Amino acid sequence: MSSASVAVIGGGVIGASVAYHLARRGWHDVVVFDRNGGPGQGSTGQATGGFRAQYATPINVRLSLLARDKLCRFEEETGVDPGYSPVGYLWLAGTEAELATLRAAQAVQHAEGLVEAMEVGPDEIAGINPALCMDEVLGGVFCPTDGFVRPLRLLEGYFAAARRLGVRVEWDTEITGLSRRADGTLSAVQTSRGAFGVAAVVNAAGAWAGAVADLAGVELPVVPLRRQVAATEPCALLPADMPMTIFAGDGFHLRVRDGRVLLLWPTPGAPGRPWDIEVEPSWVQAVAAKAHRRIPVLRRATIDFAASWAGLYEVSPDKHAILGPAPGCPNLFLVNGSSGHGVMHAPALGQLLAEIVSDGAASTTDVTPLRPSRFAEGRLNPASELL
Ligand SMILES: Cc1cc2nc3c(=O)[nH]c(=O)nc-3n(C[C@H](O)[C@H](O)[C@H](O)COP(=O)(O)OP(=O)(O)OC[C@H]3O[C@@H](n4cnc5c(N)ncnc54)[C@H](O)[C@@H]3O)c2cc1C
Repeated sequence: MSSASVAVIGGGVIGASVAYHLARRGWHDVVVFDRNGGPGQGSTGQATGGFRAQYATPINVRLSLLARDKLCRFEEETGVDPGYSPVGYLWLAGTEAELATLRAAQAVQHAEGLVEAMEVGPDEIAGINPALCMDEVLGGVFCPTDGFVRPLRLLEGYFAAARRLGVRVEWDTEITGLSRRADGTLSAVQTSRGAFGVAAVVNAAGAWAGAVADLAGVELPVVPLRRQVAATEPCALLPADMPMTIFAGDGFHLRVRDGRVLLLWPTPGAPGRPWDIEVEPSWVQAVAAKAHRRIPVLRRATIDFAASWAGLYEVSPDKHAILGPAPGCPNLFLVNGSSGHGVMHAPALGQLLAEIVSDGAASTTDVTPLRPSRFAEGRLNPASELL
């Protein structure tokens, strides 16, 4: 039987970051397994690349601040430019209740050191994004250090740096079983290419993490949720450096990427069909109608159906990541359930998980709110629909 010190299941941005950070801490024989034929074919390749620290809980703000710090050193560390572009995130409130939610989140952000996040009134909003129709806008918040990253460059950078440190990546290799000893620990991973003896296993299987945990008899409450993106034909109707602009009431948001305007609006997956990742024509019509009302210049844009896409979020019950050893299976490490924030938080989660695997606890920041046992304890983080 072949062997690996740590088997990382999943070669998306999270698995790549974990593998790199483990190798940097001196782990040898780290092997990443992915059933796809190459990088970027899971959710990482579907992400639009938003980066923000404007969250509603201290732990999510801290993950973002750690990630931002690491993004600023990413090129030096990996040799690849992550495309961090701080053009800001503009959140818009249409009611007093929405404004109160944004203000409460901002108080948390300020307490965590994100002092540049600010409340903005209608005049300032019109200055920040002049394309907006202000009819539905009462006020908002803006953070100039939020913005965008390039998801596939993060993946490329972490894999390149990990390989230089000796990490192996096995594509086209599906994990089909996890063998447990009588004491509950894992001894081997079964793959479509044979078995590997292991000292530890990391579940970085994104939207499929629940099924991977099942292989070890571990219950992991992560479910896939479809997210759709409508892309316009290339156009110059909005500036490339327009901030991400989000309507807090319904989550409709838009950005410009590579000359196209991307329109997003979270809607529940079709009942019973969470794995269906087709783009629905009726959804495209509805999101375009919202865009036309809220950003009138987009009435002149055409949606390019062929360039639109859908992918999967990996959602946990409180929409926060799950980080640490699996309850009852101490050498199965979970880094799951980022709930649609996995690209931006990958630099932080990879480092923190490597600390946990190496030292038994994360030293950079207190990750107690992300402990896997919180669901059994009934002590979930406050979940916000958007923030
Ligand atoms: C439309 C859309 C927009 C998004 N926008 C953003 C954004 O702006 N910012 C942000 O931070 N995040 C965004 N996300 C979320 C982000 O894409 C995910 O949080 C992130 O990619 C998760 O990374 P991952 O490495 O865990 O998952 P993945 O990239 O999906 O990697 C998991 C890998 O596990 C592999 N795998 C699964 N099961 C097995 C098995 N049994 N054996 C072997 N391999 C297996 C899969 O093949 C896959 O490659 C978006 C997601 C979508 C769908």
